[in-house]
Amino acid sequence: MTYATFSDAHRALQNDETSCESLVSSFLERIRERNDSINAFLELDEDGALNHARYLDSQRARGHERPLTGLILGVKDVLCMRGRTVTCGSKMLESFESLIDATALKRLRDAGAIFIGKTNCDEFGMGSSNENSYFGPVRNPLDQERVPGGSSGGSAAAVADKMAHAALGTDTGGSIRQPASYCGIVGLKPTYGRVSRYGLVAYASSFDTIGPMGHSVEDVARILEAMAGKDEQDATSASVPVPGYADALNGSVEGVRIGLPKEYYAEGLDDEVRAMLEERVSELKEAGAEIVDVSLPHTSYGIAAYYILTTAEASSNLARYDGVRYGHRADVKHTRKRIQQEREALTESLQSARASGNKERAQSLQQALDTQESLLDGLYADTRTEGFGDEVKRRIMLGTYVLSSGYYDAYYEKAQRVRTLIRNDFDQVFEHVDALLTPATPTPAFKLGDKVDDPLAMYLNDVYTVTASLAGIPGLVVPAGETSGGLPVGMQLLGRHFDESMLLQIGNAAMNLS
Ligand code: GLN
Repeated sequence: MTYATFSDAHRALQNDETSCESLVSSFLERIRERNDSINAFLELDEDGALNHARYLDSQRARGHERPLTGLILGVKDVLCMRGRTVTCGSKMLESFESLIDATALKRLRDAGAIFIGKTNCDEFGMGSSNENSYFGPVRNPLDQERVPGGSSGGSAAAVADKMAHAALGTDTGGSIRQPASYCGIVGLKPTYGRVSRYGLVAYASSFDTIGPMGHSVEDVARILEAMAGKDEQDATSASVPVPGYADALNGSVEGVRIGLPKEYYAEGLDDEVRAMLEERVSELKEAGAEIVDVSLPHTSYGIAAYYILTTAEASSNLARYDGVRYGHRADVKHTRKRIQQEREALTESLQSARASGNKERAQSLQQALDTQESLLDGLYADTRTEGFGDEVKRRIMLGTYVLSSGYYDAYYEKAQRVRTLIRNDFDQVFEHVDALLTPATPTPAFKLGDKVDDPLAMYLNDVYTVTASLAGIPGLVVPAGETSGGLPVGMQLLGRHFDESMLLQIGNAAMNLS
């Protein structure tokens, strides 16, 4: 037996109805049954998980209980675990073995969590459907024709399909919140700086966050509590004290002021999703919350600013994958041969241009020959051509473009200014309300293949999640209900910097009410 939530399992452990070892074995069995069709896990750590479970059981026998003893956790494969591969869903890192433990993982392990395996994701966290993984797409366990969302789709699917109590995801622009919404689970993107990023493979460093995904707000709160807080290894981690998130949950929203930003309920929002959120809002109102209409006027610039700034940061972060220091390396013999063949072709064309007296063409061919790439440059190019998927390449090109000297002011700098405006919008409304309630996604989960050839449609899917990432504020998604077709839909709660407690309190109450 696996138990639905960590809290249930923890209680069962305390009553000696189960053991950590038996929890691990039950989950492994479930994964073996389900993973072939869902593709949520890329790798299992059976021995590691069982050994750690036995160790925790022996400690329990001596009365040593830890806050997360018995939590069986999936870990998105962008987080480093010493001695294990960290693929980031990319061919580039297919066989790259990590030398360090991410701080978040270290803290969770110390707290008693057991890592059962690494979960699938969009390559380097870039995507909204998990179709950009080199290791194949993840299927939504609630409807296998549909995507689980992305980029933490493997984590969301693993939790929704009960292959783990909970999982860690990362959220740069919605990658925890959107898949949580599509899979009907709880997902928390903490404030930027709340959880150390040490050991997280970088996508966009000024946006990246690590957060928990689970079946209950309480589980998510306990996981956050264990991994949050200052870390000397990450200068951007904050020294803000970590409150006892879980024990403070009391189910009350009496007197809490919740804002509904009108820009999030405008055109493009699915009618069923809108109706469902309205129901949740009236329940909260009846329970004593005060509902206020508010406005965040710069919302519509969010997507553009997000995709300029994150691609810029990604183009810089991903420059390190050159085939020399990390991961995949193209075969140098092939590169040498390619360059040689190009040289021969150029020389031949040059000779015929000269023979036919075409001076202009001869000149440009001579120039091409003089500036032909070196073997080293060729090796970099071939490595990156082979190692990265299409979406990652698209973003590196976009990011390089927006940072190039002629366009820096027009794109990158302007997007930075928009980021400030969006942050100011939030600061202003949070003077009047305690949290915002918005849709998490415009529609329920879409079908596999639906948007994969249309990057813009895929980007637009992130319209409700990227703004919080631009502002660095926390966002919690909890299930809001199901459509007539049986697909889950989430609602998003946004709050002040470092006020995760408020979101957890409202999210917990909302789940109890519906
Ligand atoms: N879908 C967004 C993107 O592709 C968000 C991804 C994320 O949060 N890692 O950038």
